[in-house]
Amino acid sequence: MTTPPTPPIRTVAVVGAGTMGHGIAQVAAQAGWTVRLTDAVPGAAARALERIRANLDGAVQRGKATPEACGDTLARLAPSDRLDEAARGADLVIEAVPEQLDLKRALFRRLDEVVAAEAILATNTSSLSVAAIAGGTRHPARVLGMHFFNPVHVMKLVEIVTHEGTSPPARAAAVAAARRMGKDPIVVRDSPGFASSRLGVALGLEAMRMLEEGVASAEDIDKAMALGYNHPMGPLRLTDLVGLDVRLAIARYLHATLGTATFHPPAILERLVAEGRLGKKSGQGFYRWPES
Ligand code: NAD
Repeated sequence: MTTPPTPPIRTVAVVGAGTMGHGIAQVAAQAGWTVRLTDAVPGAAARALERIRANLDGAVQRGKATPEACGDTLARLAPSDRLDEAARGADLVIEAVPEQLDLKRALFRRLDEVVAAEAILATNTSSLSVAAIAGGTRHPARVLGMHFFNPVHVMKLVEIVTHEGTSPPARAAAVAAARRMGKDPIVVRDSPGFASSRLGVALGLEAMRMLEEGVASAEDIDKAMALGYNHPMGPLRLTDLVGLDVRLAIARYLHATLGTATFHPPAILERLVAEGRLGKKSGQGFYRWPES
């Protein structure tokens, strides 16, 4: 099937108004586009707008933005409880619903019917196959990943994830869109863990194995990366912030899909998760939280 040319972006729809969706809607509105934010839970998109307002107020208080610019950003944002209403006429749709393949596949099939054939459909999945998400659509060439990081209004990276059938114009449009949102995009082939999780998790798991072997303390392993390699924080502290259970799930997935020993979950990670030591959210992981 030939791919229609991608249109200039004027209107963006963001589907899923949770942690990631509200942040993506904010940076899209700051880019100057008309943005419609929608969620399956009635009222959730309107509540997400309040979170955006709070982010923008914070920026004004820190002297990073003017009240006028923030007012303009908010004026470009509209909440909706109806997917069709939000997506119809959008040039770019960014999906940020929970990480479940069946849910995302069904949503993309629906979006494929509602939006124009040349609009771009992007998923913010952090681990699922973009090809599998695109699989049920009639126009998979316009489907790709736009993987933002949390908190979206702060983090600079976006991974543009292309599956085998993603068209070059769709890829180029997504790269340009990410730049317009103030991000620094990289292009990654659709493969497990993309670039960020695969490298980040590999480092974290190796740090755990070193801790198990008694190579050094958690503090000193982290210091090795923080001071020796200029990482903003060490891999064990980062694992505590992300959640040990979240990291274990990703490690299991990467081990199953890539098959390399690198991603075999270390015993210490399995044990800590079984004991409920999940990191900052449970008060203890490799460190005690809040830190004294
Ligand atoms: P979240 O649970 O905070 O938000 C998901 C939202 O989607 C909820 O408000 C929910 O009501 C809504 N939703 C559920 N089904 C829907 C449907 N059919 N239509 C419309 N809305 C629906 O989740 P999140 O943390 O924002 O994650 C969203 C996606 O972003 C996931 O794929 C996740 O893997 C990815 N991601 C998350 C992070 C992170 O740090 N949280 C980082 C990068 C990528």
